[in-house]
Amino acid sequence: MDIAEKIEKLKRIYEEFEEKVREFKKEAVCQKGCADCCKQMATIDCTTLEAFVIYNKINAFADPLKSQTKKKLKKEIHKRTTKSHTTCPFLTKKDSCLIYEARPFSCRWVYSLKKCNGKSPTIHRVVFEEAKSTIRKIQQLDNTGYSGHITFILQLFEKESFTEIYLTGGFNPQKLQKILSLYHILPNLKKV
Ligand code: SF4
Repeated sequence: MDIAEKIEKLKRIYEEFEEKVREFKKEAVCQKGCADCCKQMATIDCTTLEAFVIYNKINAFADPLKSQTKKKLKKEIHKRTTKSHTTCPFLTKKDSCLIYEARPFSCRWVYSLKKCNGKSPTIHRVVFEEAKSTIRKIQQLDNTGYSGHITFILQLFEKESFTEIYLTGGFNPQKLQKILSLYHILPNLKKV
């Protein structure tokens, strides 16, 4: 399966999840402009396949937005390696998501049945279980890829040699051992 087919399949996985949990999300209190999850969640993980979609979205931004976003991501690497908890680099000053249509699954499944008020969201057990199984499906689809924090996974695509190998279906975690362990990135195959 080539990368374009995988991206199409990824979209279908997102849609299937939404379909399955629709009933449980009806009572959600989440509203546009509430960005508690983007500020409070300790980690926003994604797979390389999702990061590739986001990477292309950033590269399609016009300047100065593109260069500003890349600069922000570079700064975020330093913050993430020294702190475990940071606000998402894609959150705008108006509390909206800069990459909303391309956001990863970890941002798509979280919602809350009660106002969070600085605490964790209240999520129905069924949605939680469905999300776990959806993450496994995404990792299986991205079987020659990796998972980790969005900032670090995006960094992999800044290396041309990585992008070339990834896009042609190559998989060599041993060669990437140093960067994988530095950024706590795991090969998807180990988790499936
Ligand atoms: S990617 Fe968007 S939705 Fe996800 S945490 Fe960041 S700002 Fe929020």
